[in-house]
Formats: sequence, C-alpha cells, structure tokens
Amino acid sequence: MEAQKTKKLYVGGNWKSNGDLKFAKEHIENLINKLDFSPDKMEVMISPIFIHLPLAKEITKPNVIVAAQNVSPFPKGAYTGEITAEQLKDLGLRCAIVGHSERRSHFQESDELVAEKIVQAQKEGLDVVLCIGEKLEEREAGETNSICKRELEAVLAKKVDWSKIVIAYEPIWAIGTGKVATPEQAQEVHNFIRNWVKENVGADEAEKIRIIYGGSVDDKNCANLIKMKDIDGFLVGGASLKPAFTTIVKICNEIAKT
Ligand code: PEP
Repeated sequence: MEAQKTKKLYVGGNWKSNGDLKFAKEHIENLINKLDFSPDKMEVMISPIFIHLPLAKEITKPNVIVAAQNVSPFPKGAYTGEITAEQLKDLGLRCAIVGHSERRSHFQESDELVAEKIVQAQKEGLDVVLCIGEKLEEREAGETNSICKRELEAVLAKKVDWSKIVIAYEPIWAIGTGKVATPEQAQEVHNFIRNWVKENVGADEAEKIRIIYGGSVDDKNCANLIKMKDIDGFLVGGASLKPAFTTIVKICNEIAKT
C-alpha cells in the first residue's frame, strides 16, 4: 500500500564535479527551469560546482533551490581554498550539502568536521543536506545502523537546529554504482533514522524532518522508493544531469501531499 505523504518532499540534484559553464547554463535553461512541480508539495534543489553558483543563482527560476556542494567548517579568514557559509549567503544561497561520502572518503572529512560545517552553515541561516550512510563491508557486517548513528551523534553533540537539516541516507555502495537499495532496505534505515531523531531530538522534529534517499536513483526506480513511508525524497547524482531528473521530479510531485 502507498504511504500517504504528510510533508513536503525534497528532491536534490548533486551535480558533483561535472560539467563546464556551457553545460550548466544549458542544463538550467533547458531542463531545470522547465521542471513542472508544485512548490506547495515539494522542494527541488540543484547543486552545481562552486564557480558555477553565481550563474546558477542568476538564471535558475526562484522555485528551485541552488545549493553549494560543500561549505567551510571555519568562518572567513586565513583558510586558503575554503568558501564560507557567510560567502554563500552573500551570493544569495540558502543551502549547502555537507558530509557527502565522496568528501568523507576522498578528503578525509571526519564526523566532527562535518558537524562543524553544519554549525557554521546554521550561524549564517543556511539549510543543510546532511549525507550519511554505510560502506558495503559495513552493511555486510550488520553495521548499517551503528554507522548512521555515529554520524548523527557527531551532529547531535553540536546542538544544531534539526528543523534546518534534511538528512540524506546514501549507502556508499549504491552511489554511482547502479546498485540501488531496494525500497525495503532503504525504508528500514530511514525508519531507524527517524526513530533515532525521535529519541534523541524529539517526536515533533522526527515527524517533520525530511529523510531522503540517495544512491543510483533514476527515472525507473524512483516510483517504488518514494512509496515507502519514511522516504521523503531523493538526492540524485548521475541522473540529475540527464532528462531522467524531469521524470523523478514529476513522479515525486504526483505522490506528494496535496
Ligand atoms: C550522490 O552523489 O549523492 C548520488 C546519490 O549519486 P548517484 O545518484 O549517481 O548514485
């Protein structure tokens, strides 16, 4: 049976380190600005690379959120190469992705550092999409929940505003691999995460927080995933660069609360 959606769904496109300026411009003009969805029912976000953000912010229709893929864990100052939450806000942005597994693994970002990024983002009033999730060997060892718990506990230790966080459950073995979690596998972890929020943050927060799934989501598998009770949307990588993104948004808009 289809779960009744009680909150606004959230569909984000993580463009990762892809595309040149021409692609960004054309993708926004030809696809993103033509997405058909009701902002009362769902939020749509795109996240191009940093240097494309000014253009993206300028040309993207205001019903689509333009987000950064990362944010500095420090305020402005002597941190060469970093871009602060204050600078993102100055550009008119209101959201950043933090803790993506590619940053945790390739750039050695610790749970603590990710939590510090959320603190800095929230100081400037930015929303964050917090990515968590386990590696294949961790799933096989039965450690999925404990990995998610550990990543969430680091954030809890900072006493952040959970109403400004969207949690993206992204099993690492499903990212960019074409191996999507089954709806049941994803639902089980989303339910664990919601219960964790209920026990550690509050029942109201648990009810309201969006927990979105990421990992090889495409136009073919999204319909069965979004039917699950605790799946409130998606963080889409590869398919967000393709026409499939239009279908994903359309399918979510159809099932979203009225
Ligand atoms: C991602 O990068 O967050 C992601 C989920 O990628 P993909 O959809 O390509 O697996």
